[in-house]
Amino acid sequence: MWFDEAIEATLAQLDSAHRRRRLRPVAIPGPRLVLADGRSLIDASSNDYLGLSQHPATKARAIEWVERFGAGARASRLVTGTLEALAELEARLAAFKGAEAALIFNAGYQANAAVLPVLCDLAGGRDALVFTDRLNHASLHAGCAAAGVRQIRFRHNDLAHLEELLAQYANGEPAFIITESVFSMDGDRADVAPLAAIARRHGAVLYLDEAHATGVLGPQGRGLAGAASGAVVMGTLGKAFGAAGAYIAGSRQLIDYLVNRCAGIIYSTAPAPAACGAVDAALDLIPTMDRERALLAVRGERLRQRLAHLGISTLGSTTQIVPAVLGSEEAALAAQKRLEERGVLAVAIRPPTVPESASRLRFSLSSAHSDADFELLLDAVGVLGA
Ligand SMILES: *Cc1c(COP(=O)(O)O)cnc(C)c1O
Repeated sequence: MWFDEAIEATLAQLDSAHRRRRLRPVAIPGPRLVLADGRSLIDASSNDYLGLSQHPATKARAIEWVERFGAGARASRLVTGTLEALAELEARLAAFKGAEAALIFNAGYQANAAVLPVLCDLAGGRDALVFTDRLNHASLHAGCAAAGVRQIRFRHNDLAHLEELLAQYANGEPAFIITESVFSMDGDRADVAPLAAIARRHGAVLYLDEAHATGVLGPQGRGLAGAASGAVVMGTLGKAFGAAGAYIAGSRQLIDYLVNRCAGIIYSTAPAPAACGAVDAALDLIPTMDRERALLAVRGERLRQRLAHLGISTLGSTTQIVPAVLGSEEAALAAQKRLEERGVLAVAIRPPTVPESASRLRFSLSSAHSDADFELLLDAVGVLGA
């Protein structure tokens, strides 16, 4: 049968390129996770930056919301109505982001994939001018692909290049600039205030993905978008928030438009009560976690210094995400294996996720690692210099 044969051929091709991925069973998740085979590893790969996925308060609130509202949300919000508690949660999230309103989605991938097309509809549909950072996340590409637009890509974080392209293509016509405030693979930051100024000057709308900044950076963990008034801000709730889902924050009018036009809201079951409850508790905790954010910053700096000492590039990282660029895929895979033998899980990131010859280990740190485990991690990293 052609279907099974095509699948088999694709998997065989991945096998021969050493790019076939397998799902590895984990018995117990956490800053120190336990694999199904019983081995315990320091998890330096998850995005649970503040450890909130395992926090007693997020777990308790998730259970409370399940008891009050049920295990599932039952239907799209446009069909059975929006849970009062969810509307209140969105208002709290909007306040946290300093925005008029917010809308919660089931996942960040879904939000980017579903929102960008309806934003582009406002600016000429598939003719919309969309300027994107070259290192943007796959979900942002999915949104542009769904919109049918050709992305005009600027060099990573190169605002002079962005301005050149704007001058060349936009001439004041409706345009979007789409970027991340913290980049998921390099751990560096966008210059949000100058980006916002460029957008304003060219009459463009800035769309900012705060997946890795939300909860971790900015005053009280509110992210970096505060420097960009008027931006459409997206962020995720499955990373530092420790729950699941994503949000769009912006004007009341923008949110009303999305409720009316965005297929990812209209045709998708509302977020599950458990996840919403956990987000509600995370919103209580995050503004109070300056100590944890400071610890993360110190740990990121110490890991970068350690890697620099070993002669390993960490690119422009200034955050809790620290790449260790090793070059070839083989080098990255071998390094992953050696670290794992030393009890640390840091995953090799290879093309097509990162450019050829920029294969790396991606360390993502958590304030929930114990001091002892963090020292073990720093010590284990020594194997990369060998
Ligand atoms: C993780 C991530 C997403 C997707 O969010 P999910 O909620 O995990 O689907 C979107 N954008 C960026 C930059 C991300 O890192």
